[in-house]
Amino acid sequence: MRLTFLGATQTVTGSKFLLEAGNRRVLIDCGLFQGLKQLRLRNWDEPPIDPASVDTIILTHAHIDHTGYLPRFVKQGFGGSVYATPATLDLAGILLPDSGHLQEEEARYRNKHKLSKHDPALPLYTLEDAQEALKLFKSAPYRKQQSLGPNLTFEFFPAGHILGSAFILFREGDKTILFTGDIGRYDQPIIFDPTPVKAADYVVMESTYGNRLHDGSEGSSGKDQLRQIINETATRGGTILIPSFAVGRAQELLYIIRELEQEHAIPTLPVYVDSPMAVSAFEIFAKHREEHDVEMTQIENNGTNPLQSANVQFVRTAEESKKIAAHSFPSIIISANGMATGGRILHHLLQRVPDNRNALVFVGFQAAGTRGRLLSEGAKQIRIFGQDYRVRASVHTISSFSAHGDYNEILRWLNGFSLPPRKVFLVHGEPNAIIAMQQHIEAKFKTWHVHAPQYLEKVDL
Ligand SMILES: [Zn+2]
Repeated sequence: MRLTFLGATQTVTGSKFLLEAGNRRVLIDCGLFQGLKQLRLRNWDEPPIDPASVDTIILTHAHIDHTGYLPRFVKQGFGGSVYATPATLDLAGILLPDSGHLQEEEARYRNKHKLSKHDPALPLYTLEDAQEALKLFKSAPYRKQQSLGPNLTFEFFPAGHILGSAFILFREGDKTILFTGDIGRYDQPIIFDPTPVKAADYVVMESTYGNRLHDGSEGSSGKDQLRQIINETATRGGTILIPSFAVGRAQELLYIIRELEQEHAIPTLPVYVDSPMAVSAFEIFAKHREEHDVEMTQIENNGTNPLQSANVQFVRTAEESKKIAAHSFPSIIISANGMATGGRILHHLLQRVPDNRNALVFVGFQAAGTRGRLLSEGAKQIRIFGQDYRVRASVHTISSFSAHGDYNEILRWLNGFSLPPRKVFLVHGEPNAIIAMQQHIEAKFKTWHVHAPQYLEKVDL
């Protein structure tokens, strides 16, 4: 077998790995490069491999840094099958068209403001391209070996990262290679823990938090902080505004708010989920009961929806959204996008941020240069749609929500191996995180071989 690293080397985006086994060419993930311009430009380059030469693509999960290059890859000639778990297939069905829509918006913006040296600036791909790519999808359940050729199989196992996320284990004869995609956390609401793996000859593993530990090792501190903020804000008659990612985080928030209500730890407030994508994601979360962990299933069996607070309202239309913005009673508003760079959250921000009774709560990573980053770092004034607003609401950051295991959780998962892998390849991490993860692994498992590949590196296995 031969492995080529086509992305997520020394960085956290653009996951793409080519596995060649016999005469089969399989691509694991087809992610978009995001963040720094020098990385994003790779999305526009000629692909380093001919898309038409790839037989099959297999996806670890639906996040855009693992799937978002797919529509372009299809447009450039890939015509094989794309395998994913059933929940990943459904989530990609909302995330990829949205990504195509955003690419079109960006091209329109660049043309309008003449920001491109290309005339006209074209989108990387369109909504229609995304819909074409989705036609190639085939679903494969967890724990069922699928054949890819005479001597090659793959199998999905729950990765605990987001709904549908999977480790992929390939087997060629008696040789095995495991791709982790993103590794989730232990004892988190809604989905399963990462599946213990006992053996694989080679492991291609993420290392996003190779140099960090999350606060609150049991994940309880996020819940405690949220309880305190909700109580304080409701007492002063304010509204709690939470910019949130539509898939995953929004569902986790509702789960926790429902728990806090049932424990009588907070008052029952109207909760508005104001994001069409989040509303669709809630439907997908409810549909995929095979993904629900023991606690979720128990609550469901007792006749309660674990992802609904007592007085929740899912908002799709812009008219309903405007009505919420006009409310002046205490409530909780969860809206997208999570970094406040666009979307309905902007209307809520300009409405709520100038009032000192309200609270603004960040629950996800805020990238440099975003409004979310400015606000979370204490900006006293914020510009929205060309107008400046004073920030008088209290601003909070809850950093313990994360869908990635920290290095202790990853070491715990690696500890499940009863035989050392022949080699662990570290990907999907910034250089410092990868170096630290390598040191942690070598300190704990003295004899293991760890390697951090470079972009376009090839290894024979
Ligand atoms: Zn992910």
